[in-house]
Amino acid sequence: MSLSRRKFLKFSAGAVAAMGVNLFDNPLMAKAFAQAVKETPIIWLAAGACSGCSVSLLNTLSPRIQDVLLDELVPGHHTELAFHPTVMAASGDLAMDVMYQTEEKPFILVVEGSVGTADGGRMMEVGEAHGHGIPVTEHVERLGKKAVAVLAVGSCAAFGGVNKANMNPSGSVGVGEFFKSKGITTPLINLPGCAIHPDWFIGTVASVLLGGLESVKVDELGRPEMFYSKLIHDNCPLRGHFDAGRFAQKFSDPHCLYKLGCKGPVARANCPEKKFNSGTNWCIENGHPCIGCVEPEFPYEGSMHATVPLQHVTPPAAYPAIETDHSQKIDFGPTYGALAGAAAGVVGMNLLKKGNSKDDGDQDGKE
Ligand code: SF4
Ligand code: SF4
Repeated sequence: MSLSRRKFLKFSAGAVAAMGVNLFDNPLMAKAFAQAVKETPIIWLAAGACSGCSVSLLNTLSPRIQDVLLDELVPGHHTELAFHPTVMAASGDLAMDVMYQTEEKPFILVVEGSVGTADGGRMMEVGEAHGHGIPVTEHVERLGKKAVAVLAVGSCAAFGGVNKANMNPSGSVGVGEFFKSKGITTPLINLPGCAIHPDWFIGTVASVLLGGLESVKVDELGRPEMFYSKLIHDNCPLRGHFDAGRFAQKFSDPHCLYKLGCKGPVARANCPEKKFNSGTNWCIENGHPCIGCVEPEFPYEGSMHATVPLQHVTPPAAYPAIETDHSQKIDFGPTYGALAGAAAGVVGMNLLKKGNSKDDGDQDGKE
């Protein structure tokens, strides 16, 4: 059976992403990606963003960011990450002209940051016309309608994120919510994370360009399943401590971080496999609880319970409390609902098991 080059690439992109290895170890794929990006340029629009996701993108190793930007993979060709306000050399009218020219041909729109809708969108402006700033809402609406596909990069673009937390004076919403309010139906893929892993972005773009939109299977929140299907809690190196009821009471304790507010039992992403900083470490291996940055409820306390300051780490409302009185029933809070159901169920079952055990004296952290 013959296998066309395109089919091979499509298969490879899906397979290697699913396995969590580098997408571009195969030089043929690297070349094909560079060529595909050249044919379908990317406009990266920064809305209400801290630029953390851009910084993360600059940290991509495979392919290297200079290869994405400068196209050393295919000598003589310029890869078009056509418009990126942070890394492009051009500025002012010259930069805006690049955006306007690029949107006249098929392109992929990337939005980093939330869309600020308050005050006619005037709190977030990109470029100017007739002496006035252009609200980012105008760009997202215009470009969103024209784009082949839209990627909402980072938690703010996907779900509103930190900007949408109380009190949200900028009227920030995620791209999906903004599109809904404008009746825009362009395919949208959410890549939440604070900040994203560079492979989540590069891998998704590669899959869209090489295999088409249909090659990216997404979950009910619009996140690619190849990156966002696994529960952190199920792949955590500290899971043994959780199952044994050994919980850290303070930072630097070597045990499960559940009681310090870890959201691993409700967060889905492949961080334990991929790791950050070029595969060096990730939140939990670095001694900090997972803060669930890939979920729509992030930043949790800040967005849902106005009386609890953002910096207070507490287990999410959906978690069963770890009580010394094991006869207590588990009371799942209504706030997480279906999203957290499966994960909380796993936690609940484990705790119930411990509650029935005779040897459970250290469940609340006493050892
Ligand atoms: S609660 Fe957090 S630290 Fe503990 S096992 Fe689960 S993911 Fe790991
Ligand atoms: S471990 Fe949790 S907080 Fe850290 S990047 Fe992954 S999902 Fe976000």
